[in-house]
Amino acid sequence: MSAAPQHAAPLDVQAVRKDFPILSDSFHGKPLVYFDTAASSQKPQVVIDALVDFYSHGYANIHRGLYALSVGATRSFEEARDKVRGFLNAADEREIVFVRNATEAINLVAMSWGRQEVGAGDEIVISAMEHHANIVPWQQLCAEKGAVLRVTPVDDRGELELDAYESLLSDRTKLVAITHVSNALGTINPAKQLVESAHAKGIPVLLDGAQAVPHMSVDVRDLDCDFYVFSGHKLFAPSGIGALYGKLGVLETMPPFMTGGEMIESVTFEKTTFKAPPGRFEAGTPDIAGAIGLGVAIDYLQELGMDAIAAWEHELLAYATARFEEIPGLRIIGTAREKAGVLSFVLDCAHPHDVATILDQEGVAVRAGHHCAQPIMDRFDVPATTRASLSLYNTREEVDVLVAAIGKVTELFG
Ligand code: PLP
Repeated sequence: MSAAPQHAAPLDVQAVRKDFPILSDSFHGKPLVYFDTAASSQKPQVVIDALVDFYSHGYANIHRGLYALSVGATRSFEEARDKVRGFLNAADEREIVFVRNATEAINLVAMSWGRQEVGAGDEIVISAMEHHANIVPWQQLCAEKGAVLRVTPVDDRGELELDAYESLLSDRTKLVAITHVSNALGTINPAKQLVESAHAKGIPVLLDGAQAVPHMSVDVRDLDCDFYVFSGHKLFAPSGIGALYGKLGVLETMPPFMTGGEMIESVTFEKTTFKAPPGRFEAGTPDIAGAIGLGVAIDYLQELGMDAIAAWEHELLAYATARFEEIPGLRIIGTAREKAGVLSFVLDCAHPHDVATILDQEGVAVRAGHHCAQPIMDRFDVPATTRASLSLYNTREEVDVLVAAIGKVTELFG
C-alpha cells in the first residue's frame, strides 16, 4: 500500500458526500453504496450546475463566432484547457489536447505518432496489467507495421517485474506505453523510474493515467513522460471529455489524427495546411460543455486537495483490506505494496457476477467481470473478479455494509 502523503489537511468526507446528490439516493430500498468509481465517478453538484448554467446562458460554438456569446464560450473552453494544464503541471497549454476519453487519446498517439515513427521489426513495450485501451491500439499498430508488442510481466502481488522491464528495453524499442495505476489490481506503478529507464535508452513513454488522476497529484514535468492520458468521467467530470498531454516538441512533429473543420489553417482543393497543436488534433466541434465541466471538476478537486484525497483513500483502503482479510474464502487479487483504492477479489463459493448481483440487492454497486483487462485475469488464472473501487466520497461505514453484504453471499453460496 502506498505511503500516505504527508501534511495533507484531512478530508471532511461527510461534507464531500453532500456535494454529490446521487449519494442520497436509494436502490432496492437501500441507500446507494457506490463502489464503482474506477468504472466512472459520480458528479458533484458544482459540475452539474456548470453544465446547466452553460447550456442555459453560455452556449454557442467556439473559436469561430464574433459575437459575445461565442467569445465567452471560447474563453471558458480555453480556460478549461489551462486548468487541465495546471492540474497536470504541464508547462504550456498547447500541450493539452481535448479528446473524448483515454481510449481516444491512446488511439490518437498510436495513429498519429505511431504510424509515423514505428516500422517493421520495431518494438512497443507495454505491461501485463494494461487496460484493453492500452493494448489493442498498439497491437493494431504492430499488425499494420510488422512491429512487435513486448509485455512486461507482473508478479504474484501484481507488481511489475522491473528487471524484466529493463531487459525488454532495447534499440528496437520505439515506445513504452504503461499504466500509471492498474484498474484491475490497483497497483501504482513506479512511473518516474519507468520513464527514467526508458529515457536512458532514448525511448519515449506514454503513461495511461485514467486511474491515477482521480487519486493522487500528477506532475507530468516531474514524471518527464512524453504523453499522459486520462478520461474526465473518472475524474468527477462529464463523460465524453478527456485529455491527452504531449510534450510540445513531440506534438509538433505529429500529423493530424482526424481531419476536417477546426483543425485547419487554410483549405483549397489542391492543398490543406493544418493548425499547430493542440488545434491540429481537435477536428470538428468538441464537447464544449464537457470541457468546461472538466475544468470545474478540477477546481473542485484542487479545493479539496489531492493530497487530502489520497490520504483518505489510503486510510480507507487499509481499513477495507483488513476487513476483507477476515472473510473466509475471499482472495484479494492485487496486493501490491503501492496501491490505490481498488479491491479486486474472488470468493471460493460464488462467481463474481453472482456476487455483484447479490450486492446490488443490498444497494452496493460494484463491478464484476474482466474489467477490460483480460490478460491480467489470465495471469492470475481467474476468469473475472468482483471489484470494489474506493473514492473520496466513500466511508468506513460503507465498507462495513459491503463486508456484511459479502457475508450474505457466503451464507447463500457457502
Ligand atoms: N485505462 C485505464 C487504466 C482504465 O481503467 C480505463 C477505463 O476503465 C481506460 C484506460 C479507458 O478509459 P475510457 O473508457 O474512459 O476511455
